[in-house]
Amino acid sequence: MSHQLVKVLKFGGSSVGSEASLQRVVHIIQGETAACRPVVVVSALSGVTNLLVDLVESSDPESIVGQLAKRHIDMADSVLDQRRKYTYLRHLESILEELRAACTPKNRADRADFILACGELMSAPLVAGLLTQVGVVAQAIDARTLVRTESGFVDREQTRNLIQSWFANLSRFVVPIVTGFVASNEHGETTILGRGGSDYTASLFAEGVGAAKLDRWTDVDGLYTADPNRVKGAGKFLFLLLEDASTWNESSALGMHVEAFQPVLEACIPVHVRSTRFPQGDGTLILPRFLPHRIEKDARAQLAHAGHHTTIAPNRESYSAH
Ligand code: ASP
Ligand code: MG
Repeated sequence: MSHQLVKVLKFGGSSVGSEASLQRVVHIIQGETAACRPVVVVSALSGVTNLLVDLVESSDPESIVGQLAKRHIDMADSVLDQRRKYTYLRHLESILEELRAACTPKNRADRADFILACGELMSAPLVAGLLTQVGVVAQAIDARTLVRTESGFVDREQTRNLIQSWFANLSRFVVPIVTGFVASNEHGETTILGRGGSDYTASLFAEGVGAAKLDRWTDVDGLYTADPNRVKGAGKFLFLLLEDASTWNESSALGMHVEAFQPVLEACIPVHVRSTRFPQGDGTLILPRFLPHRIEKDARAQLAHAGHHTTIAPNRESYSAH
């Protein structure tokens, strides 16, 4: 078996929120399959989680469910062929049915987490269907079977073990499309990781599958000192230390889920923040202070495979000799 680098690719809501953007995502994943073994994590279509938040409180749930149905059916209409659309719509219908049952006045307080989780449960099979249609063997994965929470927090050890054994048994020819944000507790009930939680999911999967890198694809080409759309002269970070990014993020400076960097930080996995609108851009590379030997070996093998024999970093022996 040839050596294959595993990479986690995470796509946020705006990346999967329009037909044009979805096509760019497919193109990116297709390109990656040539060079590595991707594990994909997706958010809900943009705006969908906000609608679901409204749904939990709404006095007119049917109108919101109708909007959600239309949004996904329209998207399926525009990107899927007849056969995939048929499969996807059947899946969509079963989720919408469960959603309707969950948002009755009697049930919805207890089932709020399930209601919020539906965005990702509806997006992952759509992305998987589209990829399969263009010849990538893709499979939607419901992360509720792999991410375990207890009393509102992720049980990191159980989650790591679940992801590891799932991945060990997954055919390397299958590209998994994992639902971000969603989890389940020890009673088998659906739970969620908190807003922006797909980044945390991606980080947990990067750790669990032993990824050499996590590419976080969004609609801004990197991390900035302030919101570039609002603050004139905001500067872009080309590089950040993972340790710094994690600390800043914990004090909400980077606006990601508060625990998003924990798993990748502990596993020393580089993160690359990139834009689906401008994939040729540099983005922001977030590097651990030290590259663990495992990742360095992967990178060397990858370069050797591509015919490069340049030294990419001082090797450990010569490094420690100084
Ligand atoms: N869809 C969820 C949210 O909007 C999770 C995510 O996008 O990361 O918060
Ligand atoms: Mg989102």
